[in-house]
Amino acid sequence: MAKENQFVEQIADINADFPQWYTDVVLKTKLVDYGPVKGTMVIRPYGYAIWENIQKILDARFKECGVENAYFPLLIPMSYFTKEAEHVEGFAPEVAVVTVGGGEELAEPLAIRPTSETIIGSMMSKWIQSYRDLPMKVNQWCNVMRWEKTTRPFLRTSEFLWQEGHTAHATAEEAEAFTLTMLGVYKEFMETCLAIPVLTGRKTEKERFAGAVATYTMEAMMKDGKSLQSGTSHYMGQNFAKAFDIRFLGGEGVLETAYTTSFGVSTRLIGAIIMTHGDERGLVLPPVVAPMQCVIVPIAARKEGVIEACEALEAELKKAGIRVTLDKSDNSPGWKFNEWEMKGVPVRIELGPRDIEAGKMICARRDTLEKTEVALDNAAERVKDLLASIQKDMLEAARKRRDERIVYADDMAGILAGVEAGNFVKAGWCGCRECEDKIKEETAATARVFAEGESRETCAVCGKKAEHVIVYARAY
Ligand code: ZN
Repeated sequence: MAKENQFVEQIADINADFPQWYTDVVLKTKLVDYGPVKGTMVIRPYGYAIWENIQKILDARFKECGVENAYFPLLIPMSYFTKEAEHVEGFAPEVAVVTVGGGEELAEPLAIRPTSETIIGSMMSKWIQSYRDLPMKVNQWCNVMRWEKTTRPFLRTSEFLWQEGHTAHATAEEAEAFTLTMLGVYKEFMETCLAIPVLTGRKTEKERFAGAVATYTMEAMMKDGKSLQSGTSHYMGQNFAKAFDIRFLGGEGVLETAYTTSFGVSTRLIGAIIMTHGDERGLVLPPVVAPMQCVIVPIAARKEGVIEACEALEAELKKAGIRVTLDKSDNSPGWKFNEWEMKGVPVRIELGPRDIEAGKMICARRDTLEKTEVALDNAAERVKDLLASIQKDMLEAARKRRDERIVYADDMAGILAGVEAGNFVKAGWCGCRECEDKIKEETAATARVFAEGESRETCAVCGKKAEHVIVYARAY
């Protein structure tokens, strides 16, 4: 018999060394591997399957909002970036540039897209002629590249996968409303599909997207208390429309400038899942996006009828649309339990001769490690119910954990102590940039999001009257 749990020994202690725990988990569960070029990652099939499930669900929701998919080129003329002043300044340090093609120096250097506002803006300018062409809503699923100095798989890599939606509207009101619609789509997706509660709202001017009028964010608390910006929706006003000449003939026959938006989430979401739900045994995956929702482990597999019963159960669950796998390898059951626990499969079913005789199976939940006896008749419905409970309970557990770690502070010392203890800290802010900078310098925490609808008396830094309440946290 193998040791009690050899897999756990391969993973650093989540409480003692969270960063090492994360690295161990992503590598040992075969989600990713490092690419040969520093800062790049290979997404392995187990990780890519999570991304595909994310894509499938979000894609359908975008389409319900009238967004259509398209594809734009990877290479963008460098001159495009200089058209919007803030945008070029924001992205210049991380743009990778192609200067040679076909063995010859290029007349104009080409950027590898760090984002596609510029090229999509230039195409919209061509495609939009009259108010009848609006709103225009396009999205692309693609890779982007940002040259990063320090990288971590899924959280920050030079190349990553994402979707970027870009829309153009006739009025500011409509564009702003759509920005918030997409933020709502994201929030609902995070909570119901990834079981990750998020704080949503506006970013400060300092933290907003380069070139945007307003950036709305989703901030999720990871198990170490740090925040992960999990997705953003930007209202661009007319900044890009002016820079790229996105104009249309209005109903009155007057030439008007459009209003644009953009919104995106990336493979970073996989990092969010890992760090929101993972535990000392490894991954804990929410059923909705888990590549495998259920694993069947035969007990006393050589005994007559066991494998046959397991296969029949597998077929029944598959037929009901459950993503299930039957582990027929010759490893011991204990080994298999630990391996599938590490890989975060939501439900493990144990089926042996005695269970079969009694007409039941043992179901072990990955989230709570709780084991229950479940009747074999109508098994698919019972497993579906269990998966639904797990999905719901994972969100509630994450929400409870997060809410217990949102605290208030009235001065710099309070903010520092709060973030040191792994909390999100809400504090009053006068609205000036100096105070925001000072907090970052002294606490390494940043303004994550406005806490809308809340009020505090004074700014935690300067003591003047507070105009807003800000959620501060250290962040990935
Ligand atoms: Zn202040």
